[in-house]
Amino acid sequence: MDEHLDNARRLLADRQEIVIFSHRNPDGDAVGSSLGLQHYLKGQGHGCTVVLPSGYPEFLAFLPEVQSIVIYDDTPERAREIIDGASLFFLLDFNSFDRIDKLAEGLTDDPRPRIMIDHHLYPEDIANPAFCDPTASSTCELVYRFIRDLGHEDRVTKACSDSLYTGILTDTGGFRYSTSPALFRTTAALLDAGTDAYKIADHVWNNQSEKQLRLLGHCLANRMELIPDFRTGLIYLNKQDYEDFDIQRGDTEGIVNYILRMPQLMIAAFIHEQPTIVKLSLRSKGTMDVQSLAKEHFRGGGHRNAAGGASFAPLGTTINRFKRQLPKYAAEIEAAYLEFNNQ
Ligand code: 5GP
Ligand code: MN
Repeated sequence: MDEHLDNARRLLADRQEIVIFSHRNPDGDAVGSSLGLQHYLKGQGHGCTVVLPSGYPEFLAFLPEVQSIVIYDDTPERAREIIDGASLFFLLDFNSFDRIDKLAEGLTDDPRPRIMIDHHLYPEDIANPAFCDPTASSTCELVYRFIRDLGHEDRVTKACSDSLYTGILTDTGGFRYSTSPALFRTTAALLDAGTDAYKIADHVWNNQSEKQLRLLGHCLANRMELIPDFRTGLIYLNKQDYEDFDIQRGDTEGIVNYILRMPQLMIAAFIHEQPTIVKLSLRSKGTMDVQSLAKEHFRGGGHRNAAGGASFAPLGTTINRFKRQLPKYAAEIEAAYLEFNNQ
């Protein structure tokens, strides 16, 4: 890691024109880590722009400088122009080029340096230096570690810490998953830097529209199916639901987690029909690994307890394919359940 840090320090020794990339359908961690790092880098005198493949959810609109983010889907020419002018790239909260779609075009053979900071499993060899730690709660935690390891802990401004705190809050589900003593120390440092945890929690958790709450009701009342034999629950949404509820990006965020409120269940799936593909969001408890299920059967990936993937088959076929995999995991599900309940 020290060698990576030395390389990063060397790259940042001269003024750079930096572009920060993060993944499609960015979440709190993607946007928070990108803006947090941007605040730090600009404070060091670098030029820096965050470029994302697609827009961010409304609840993140309070983040400082969020309106400076360039979204490829909205303004592809401008994104291309900014990328062309970059001397250095940061890759945050993703570890393979397929997560940034068209932004990755030409990057494989691009000689300009790329630094990765990420906490997903199995990083691809697409950046150097790379700061990858799948045991970290969030990329925001790793961005803080990066700044601290550079010796610049005292240069974390309130704007920076607000951004990083937000990603930590969302990626840990409100400090429920992936916490550690180190994470709470980092969190304390962010509060010391001026972040108001109460205000951020209010922005993040009390930001639902009537439509979103009614959609949640619909999902739980009409679209939830339990498969008790395999301790699994699923919620699906079809194209008609998308029309009826006028579902926009971010409206379905977090719905999958409700399934795991039932203590006997270990796996939750949210399967939803998009214009050309069917997307799956998977969640699990304890040692139950949905990352491998997503990777093996739905060309996806992610983390052990939160993964995603996609299918080109119709919705019904995809739901059946998901259910058909479950018997293969029966022993793992049961072992995870026993382990989880013996703590
Ligand atoms: P979500 O279900 O919230 O969309 O995603 C949960 C996690 O799964 C994310 O952190 C992301 O890493 C991963 N993930 C979601 N969709 C995909 C996908 O299509 N491919 C890969 N490799 N990972 C995904
Ligand atoms: Mn993340």
